[in-house]
Amino acid sequence: MRIETKCLHEGYHPGNGEPRALPIYQSTTYKYDSTEHIGKLFDLSVAGHMYSRISNPTVAAVEEKIASMEGGVGALCTTSGQAASLISLLNIMKAGDHFISAATIYGGTINLFAVTLKRFGIECTFVDQDASEEEIQKAFKPNTKAVFGETLANPALAVLDIEKFAKIAYKNNIPLIIDNTFPTPVLCRPIEFGADIVVHSTTKYMDGHAVQIGGVIVDSGKFDWTNGKFPEFTEPDESYHGVIYTESFGNAAYITKARVQMMRDIGAYPSANAAFLLNLGIETLHVRMERHCRNAEKVAEYLSKSDKVEFVNYPALKGNKDYTLKEKYLPLGCSGVISFSLKGSRETAVKFMDSLKLASNEVHVADIRTCVLHPASSTHRQLTDSQLVAAGITPGLIRLSVGIENIDDIIEDIEQALKNI
Ligand SMILES: *Cc1c(COP(=O)(O)O)cnc(C)c1O
Repeated sequence: MRIETKCLHEGYHPGNGEPRALPIYQSTTYKYDSTEHIGKLFDLSVAGHMYSRISNPTVAAVEEKIASMEGGVGALCTTSGQAASLISLLNIMKAGDHFISAATIYGGTINLFAVTLKRFGIECTFVDQDASEEEIQKAFKPNTKAVFGETLANPALAVLDIEKFAKIAYKNNIPLIIDNTFPTPVLCRPIEFGADIVVHSTTKYMDGHAVQIGGVIVDSGKFDWTNGKFPEFTEPDESYHGVIYTESFGNAAYITKARVQMMRDIGAYPSANAAFLLNLGIETLHVRMERHCRNAEKVAEYLSKSDKVEFVNYPALKGNKDYTLKEKYLPLGCSGVISFSLKGSRETAVKFMDSLKLASNEVHVADIRTCVLHPASSTHRQLTDSQLVAAGITPGLIRLSVGIENIDDIIEDIEQALKNI
């Protein structure tokens, strides 16, 4: 199946006379014929649902769909994108470990890495993603366990050179984790470029309708956890009667451990209803992404011609610093998100935003409806000025998330708001 068909048909295959749409299995528990079978489930010697903090049939169908769309061996849904990033790292790191992240990433992820994980004793070094391999290599330490980056950074819209990062991670025998939220697997599949683990905030385009917070972790199945750096995969897990993940689960060791150990203990698993809503969104993802891209290309073009605009950042615009990377990693388009700055002060930006009638002011992005946000006074408020600059944000920057309305209505709205400043 191609990606468009996978959006509709992967994960759930009803038999004769069964419901056509994915059923919502609203059950926390499961019934078994014997205590012996339950024992085997707890020993992980047979597969099956045990308890809905760890797995559920509705969620499992969506996990299978997303794993297939990304080209991975398995996936684990989470209650949010933040939970996905956190669990993707905790699954391979403990206090005393270190990892490297591109500095140009989502503000919430920067807080998680720089503040909360630091309190857990896990240290992160942020690097300039455009730096040379040699420069990035200098950030590595003997206890470095992962490299992290975003395909298309929120909100800076910088495109990551995934192959460069994959090469560096591979050379150091550690996995590359990619947050692929903005492109979705419709526009980019990082595993094809060497990523080992992919995470998403499904809250954005995958859900698409602004109805359900969620996240997902996808395992490529390609990383060699037996290379000596990750004993938690090759030594017995005492919390599971001494199971050795790489021996029992082969190339699904990472995603199995994330579920049965991390999710069991952290408990950030989505409900069946949440997974049902996510699935509804994914069914139309390919159609929506195409329209988001075409609309945003026209808006970016329009803004770049306005004399009231200082700069427009959209990688599909010729002349953008990441245009070549966009052509390589995002040939079909680079989503509906544009960032731009108006000439004038921070107040000019606020005046413009408050003048919009169709586009709404929201703490959201990647939605079917056009919306705008001022990162410096909202999502990135906690960052220092230097962190702001590193994340590619200026005080007057506006993040415009172009929806799937008629393009003429979107541009007319922007036009009248520009006249108002
Ligand atoms: C929104 C976002 C997150 C966090 O996801 P939530 O679902 O809000 O927890 C992580 N990464 C990126 C790139 C995002 O845009």
